[in-house]
Amino acid sequence: MRFDYHMHTPLCQHAKGSPVDYAKAAKASGLKEIGFSDHCPMPTQYDDWRMAPHEFPDYLDLVEEARQAVPELNIRLGLEADYIAGFENHIRELRKQAAFDYFIGSVHYISPDWDLDNPTKLEKWKDQPYEVSWKQYYRCITESAQSGLFDIIGHPDLCKKFCHIPPGDLTPYYLPALEAIADNKLCIEINTSGRHKPIEEAYPSVRFLELAFERDIPIVISSDAHNPEEVGRDFDWAKQFAWDVGYRFVQQFREGKRLPVPLSEF
Ligand code: ZN
Ligand code: FE
Ligand code: FE
Ligand code: ZN
Repeated sequence: MRFDYHMHTPLCQHAKGSPVDYAKAAKASGLKEIGFSDHCPMPTQYDDWRMAPHEFPDYLDLVEEARQAVPELNIRLGLEADYIAGFENHIRELRKQAAFDYFIGSVHYISPDWDLDNPTKLEKWKDQPYEVSWKQYYRCITESAQSGLFDIIGHPDLCKKFCHIPPGDLTPYYLPALEAIADNKLCIEINTSGRHKPIEEAYPSVRFLELAFERDIPIVISSDAHNPEEVGRDFDWAKQFAWDVGYRFVQQFREGKRLPVPLSEF
């Protein structure tokens, strides 16, 4: 019973392949269930890596089209919704507009003009110490967990993507975020895409995951596919990673409710 809840569509302008292609790839690699979670629209044009506001109905149609094309696969509807302070109501309203199974809450923006995973903005890392950027990132993660808007906290140490890592023990950055995630009974994702980025390591790090496990924070395993070939990528590796930390369950999502599935069956 393997499933992957984090994948994109061409509407975000940096992913390839139609949802039908992702669904076919998932079926071919033995997945039983997938979920689309494209980058959310914003109320007005915000940047160049998400669907335009008027394309939201197209997103729903594309997911429906994949359901029709590959009926043997369970296809869930999700969204990778940005947590950006001031846009909480926008996200809340989006959720009411369709039968969503889950929202992944992702922090990309740590200030209104810096999406810190954006490769065209690497210069920004020079403007302030890494410590400051990491603190800002984890303050946003903490707020996202407290917002009540999300089911899953996406790639919870994305700030390491390009290897801008403060010296010393990273635990103090993680702890307030982990506390908020645990208090709000949220799930985190093991996102394998980080293994194919400069950091060459899944999100989150083993240390973060150990601290999450100690706090009984549930997990999902996701690929963050931006290409059909990436669906379910590195899942054997991720299963072992979670197992070695102590995890014995992954979570399935349906209409905002989660259901534990034994990791051994994943
Ligand atoms: Zn993306
Ligand atoms: Fe993301
Ligand atoms: Fe994503
Ligand atoms: Zn993502």
